[in-house]
Amino acid sequence: MYASAIVVAAGSGSRLGAGTPKAFVPFGGSTLLAMTLRTIGTVASVAEVVIAVPSGMEPDARREAVTAGMSIPVKTIAGGKQRQDSVRIALALTSAEAELVLIHDAARPLATVAMFEQSLAQAEVYGAAIVAIPVADTLKRVLTDGTQDVPIIAGTVPRSGLWQAQTPQAFKRSLLIEAHTRALRSGIEATDDADLVEQIGVRAVVVPGSPLNLKVTTADDRWLVETIATARLR
Ligand code: C5P
Repeated sequence: MYASAIVVAAGSGSRLGAGTPKAFVPFGGSTLLAMTLRTIGTVASVAEVVIAVPSGMEPDARREAVTAGMSIPVKTIAGGKQRQDSVRIALALTSAEAELVLIHDAARPLATVAMFEQSLAQAEVYGAAIVAIPVADTLKRVLTDGTQDVPIIAGTVPRSGLWQAQTPQAFKRSLLIEAHTRALRSGIEATDDADLVEQIGVRAVVVPGSPLNLKVTTADDRWLVETIATARLR
């Protein structure tokens, strides 16, 4: 099986408040991007990586790939306005030889090799597979529209059957291209790729994720990821 990996790292990371694009912020002697690339580099069927980064940071991304010891071809490209745009732009750079495309957020540096391998294995069989975990907390819909002095609960959302989507997500390349092409043509916006594939009638299968597969958004997440990464090295 020949797979291309896309790492989306073009976000600004404004909610992290580090003043540097999130994927390049120093993290316990490394960066989110280098940590992610180090893991992807050990996934046997991944034959190339395309990294979407903020415009002008392509050389930085290539340096991170060297730091991560990547021995497979690495392509870099300026990402787009939204995550979906970054994936579409990177997808156009993936090799036509690739049967499968693996997509991962640089903001999730703790994803395991097993998550990548299982996503690819399931996508090979079912066409689409995503890492996800069942929702553990009680979910409230909260009014924050400014009409109240304090946030007010408007209702409780039954959590039964609800899962949180993570990355990696893996797809047959032809399917993903079709999903992104249709979305662009129809003006469909989504925050993950599985949604776009669902919209062309394909149901992704789920691969077990982990609450430790955190997405770094805030300074608290940064602390958690650094702490977990350090503990794993011990
Ligand atoms: O902003 P958020 O954390 O949801 O972004 C998820 C991932 O998508 C991050 O790895 C971020 O770098 C990436 N992204 C991107 N291009 C954008 C926005 C986000 O590659 N325009």
